[in-house]
Amino acid sequence: MLSERIDQFYIDSFKERDQEHFYITDAGKCPRAVYFKFKKIPKKKPEPRVLRIFDNGDYTHMRIMSVLFGLGIVRATELKIPAQEIISGRADAIIDIEGKPCVLEIKSIGSYKFAKLQEPEPDHMKQVQLYMHFFKIPDGILLYEDKDKQNLKEFAIKYDPFLIQEALKKFKELKEQIDKNIVPPIPIDIEPWRCDYCDYKEECQKIEKK
Ligand code: SF4
Repeated sequence: MLSERIDQFYIDSFKERDQEHFYITDAGKCPRAVYFKFKKIPKKKPEPRVLRIFDNGDYTHMRIMSVLFGLGIVRATELKIPAQEIISGRADAIIDIEGKPCVLEIKSIGSYKFAKLQEPEPDHMKQVQLYMHFFKIPDGILLYEDKDKQNLKEFAIKYDPFLIQEALKKFKELKEQIDKNIVPPIPIDIEPWRCDYCDYKEECQKIEKK
């Protein structure tokens, strides 16, 4: 069947990158899961459906960016943060808002989440704050698109030094744990959905049982 061949294409094309430094997106993830990735703990392969969802997210970015280029407000796109010790990342764009630079992060989310969204999701907030920090730009925008209906919602973000220091401190702690082979404890405030969808659930449970 054609759909099976398409699925197989996704499975064959998927390559897991080794992790040698933190990505800004790790700021919102479970530290134990990030630790497992650094340690190359085997994990279950993503389903082709999930890989197609990632593809869709990429197309959303391209579509919105082409509009922003049309508006003539893009200063830079896919911009890497300045090189430093442990974190790497690439901001979606730096755009011009009334003559000032502004970090833009684009997210596509499902209709249900989109309808309930009254403020930026905490993981996304950490990401955009870190980009603002590394680019030394005090303003940001988180732009959400409803992936089913293409409605948009945006949130203006102001630089929050407290949130940034917290995120950087957590990265530093995790780096020490990785260097010393200390498995991070399960965060006390871990949301159950993270564990439900976690690729390292089995390994994590094995450690807890020990
Ligand atoms: S199962 Fe939960 S606690 Fe364990 S690594 Fe995954 S997200 Fe973290």
